[in-house]
Amino acid sequence: LANRAFHPENTQIKVDNEIIGGKQLAIIAGPCSVESEEQIVNIAKRMKAAGANFIRGGAFKPRTSPYSFQGLELEGLRLLELAKKETGMPIVSELMSTKYLDEFVERVDVIQIGARNMQNFDLLKEIGKTQTPILLKRGLSATYKEWLMSAEYIMSEGNGNVILCERGIRTFETETRNTLDIQAIPVLQRRTHLPIIIDPSHAGGESYLVPAGAKAGVAAGADGLMIETHEDPANAWSDGEQCLTPDEFDKLMEQIRVLAQVE
Ligand code: PEP
Ligand code: MN
Repeated sequence: LANRAFHPENTQIKVDNEIIGGKQLAIIAGPCSVESEEQIVNIAKRMKAAGANFIRGGAFKPRTSPYSFQGLELEGLRLLELAKKETGMPIVSELMSTKYLDEFVERVDVIQIGARNMQNFDLLKEIGKTQTPILLKRGLSATYKEWLMSAEYIMSEGNGNVILCERGIRTFETETRNTLDIQAIPVLQRRTHLPIIIDPSHAGGESYLVPAGAKAGVAAGADGLMIETHEDPANAWSDGEQCLTPDEFDKLMEQIRVLAQVE
């Protein structure tokens, strides 16, 4: 179902008034974790002003350590809804288990499946039974084929609204958190009609790497970007090192606009 051979035209996914996979780039921005009403509402306003069209924020967090902050959970979803009310931007947030599937279908506009759950097949089958758009991140060391098969799990249950997100893969390199695979864009464009977006934040792991990854992604033809931002990265509850400040995000968006026009 994901195969371009049987579906030559690009898939466009409508989310509220936005279209992912169309002419306009989908710019998904916001903090790694939702922390407070003030934090998420303020950053959402700032991101919208800078040109973002989706707000992201984790309410359920897949942390490496069980002792790290695990997310505000349902309270986080409530705060995201407030941010949406203030800005009109659709919500992108990660679902980690089927336990909260109904809540997410009702309250979240795009359900993110994180890298660690890319092959959680039970979860994929369950979200496949909904019609909510799914942002499917690439697993930490997943091949294109494995990634597309995970998309297939969702689509074969009836949900064709799948967006693929390259977020860097594990390599032997230790200087960067992951290695951003830009070739994912042309390879997937050949293999599938699904939209593909680039997350340079989790790929690089440090904010100074984000602009290069974002621009490379747009230049290579990505349908959008997911970028972590925070008003005070040093005090972010998760992934602060890779968050852009609003000013840094403004600057990047100016450069992205120039690149996007060249296409
Ligand atoms: C995230 O988007 O905050 C996240 C945990 O991403 P990934 O699953 O790509 O690590
Ligand atoms: Mn994060």
